[in-house]
Amino acid sequence: MNRLLFIGDSRDIEWYPIDLNAEDLAKLISEIGFNWQHLPGISGFIRRGQKKLYAYFSIEDENIVVRRDFLGEYLDLAHRYGVKIFLYLNVHWYPEGFKESHPEWLQKRIDGTFKTGLYDLPESVTPCMNSNWRNWIIDVSMRIARKYDVDGIFLDGPVFFEDTCYCNLCREKALKEYGLDLYRMDEWTSKEYTRFMEFKYNSLKEFLRDFRDAVHSINPNIMVYMNGGHPRANWIHGRDVSTQIDVQDLIGAEGGFIGGRLIDPDNNFHRTSITSKFLEAASLGKSSVVFSDIAYKPWSAYPLTSPEIRLLLASIISNGSSPHFVYHYPILKDVYRDVLRDEIRFFRNIEGLGETFSLANTAVVFSQRTADIYFDIDIPLDLNIFSIKKRNKRGFIYSLYGACEILYRLHIPFDLINERTLVENRLEKYDVLVLPNIAFMNDIVARNIERFIEKGGRIYSSMTTSLYNEYGRFRGNFALKNVLKLNYIELDENPFYDYIYLPDEKKYIPTMPYKVKVENIGCNIYGYFIEKRRGVYNPIEGYKDPAILYNNKSIYFSGNYFQTYWRNRFPEYLQIFNKFYPWETLKLGFKNLPGSVEVEFRGNEMSIYIFLINYSGGMERPIREVIPIKNIEV
Ligand SMILES: [Zn+2]
Repeated sequence: MNRLLFIGDSRDIEWYPIDLNAEDLAKLISEIGFNWQHLPGISGFIRRGQKKLYAYFSIEDENIVVRRDFLGEYLDLAHRYGVKIFLYLNVHWYPEGFKESHPEWLQKRIDGTFKTGLYDLPESVTPCMNSNWRNWIIDVSMRIARKYDVDGIFLDGPVFFEDTCYCNLCREKALKEYGLDLYRMDEWTSKEYTRFMEFKYNSLKEFLRDFRDAVHSINPNIMVYMNGGHPRANWIHGRDVSTQIDVQDLIGAEGGFIGGRLIDPDNNFHRTSITSKFLEAASLGKSSVVFSDIAYKPWSAYPLTSPEIRLLLASIISNGSSPHFVYHYPILKDVYRDVLRDEIRFFRNIEGLGETFSLANTAVVFSQRTADIYFDIDIPLDLNIFSIKKRNKRGFIYSLYGACEILYRLHIPFDLINERTLVENRLEKYDVLVLPNIAFMNDIVARNIERFIEKGGRIYSSMTTSLYNEYGRFRGNFALKNVLKLNYIELDENPFYDYIYLPDEKKYIPTMPYKVKVENIGCNIYGYFIEKRRGVYNPIEGYKDPAILYNNKSIYFSGNYFQTYWRNRFPEYLQIFNKFYPWETLKLGFKNLPGSVEVEFRGNEMSIYIFLINYSGGMERPIREVIPIKNIEV
């Protein structure tokens, strides 16, 4: 089955709905090489004073203003040009007129006021997926499915927010199905708090299930999916692609909206690649899509450099997901066409690419639970990815980034698997698991990791991995203590200017600032924390507590190793990981390849595909020119 879609999206349709020529658009999309398109159905732009939703299809409804039946004019044309249509429905950003026409549909804050102000538009509102709004949008979509021969529906939303939803229907549902009184959140235990997360995740999953069932009852060939969760905290919005894949025909997330300060540690160089890996693992063999903008966000009328756009595209495809590219302003149309056309042609001409799977034998574990509850960290407050508030983002996400970065730098292809992969024990293809500070772990996952090791696998783990159960309860010791071969004593901190001593090499390297004191019950020790000092220039006297421990199945870093690598890039951190990696399990390797080149292997029954993605630029971003690399040996 070909899972690779090339999805175009020109949102400037909404700039000139009256005089837009349908044939010109179909020509443009097909000329670039797209075989799918997100076409605006319910407009995603809301304006001050707006009363109703604006639509580009023709359905008689009191909540909709039909601006033009563009869908009716366009569908046959698009199909004739070989382009299939996902109808885009904005289902999260609503005009202020709904406060009067349907107050009972809208999300509310705990003080009873409407949730307002999305995207800085003060009076705009958002519908609640647990309200009767769901019946209305389902009904509208069924009428669309009856009238138009669309190939898919893309839902931009619905989602919850940090301060929602406390409407009457959500309160009733939370009490009845989860035993949660939303007005007593202050008294909740961590278990109740995690139940609230489940309330959000399940509410969205139930909405998606009902929506898709209804659309499929009219036409089972219409593919339904939504703008889904990312590899980070997701509970606020309720989006979890790893479970919601069951009620969608494909999944997608915005991994290709790049911007801000591109050299910021939050702006992971490989974010698109990581998102593509994350989605592919979650997709369970269905298609996955990385939503991307050719603009340098949030300057949506200003393009990224063409090397950045081309690297985005390459990193999505080589990691198993499908590219979606949008432009919002008419002024970007030429860049959009000119930069994407050759790249998309190139990938479309590679035979069998859409039937490949990853050949990686190493997996990094992404724990949604840990991302969600690790000390309340990394919580996006709204849908604008550039205003994420970081109370303590470093704890898990930086550990994850650091682990991925080490693998990229060492040219070790890897997958990014999730808790479900571990619960369902789909680990046969892996030789190595990396657990970057996976604090919150349930018993089934811990048992399956033990089995993985019994069967010959090797793990790298760090810091608080397996110290808590999935409801945030401290276990008192590592759930993985039998394979780590050590006991937990206590958490501690080091002055960041301290050192780790490596006796084998008689060498001091910069320390990990967070430390877990452990009792060694069967490991070798490769590195020790030195005795704590006071003052940067104080003498270095002695060393005691183990910092890096290993046995033949496990390497454990008793501190925030991966996070420290992410922040500081000490070369020894890379070398130590390298030293313990079972290189004999990798069948292909490279010489003369710098760490700035990403290596991915994919394969199908016929062929192996090797991807080398060259991020070598001029030591700054955005990259203006890629520096060619020659004389690579395989
Ligand atoms: Zn609600």
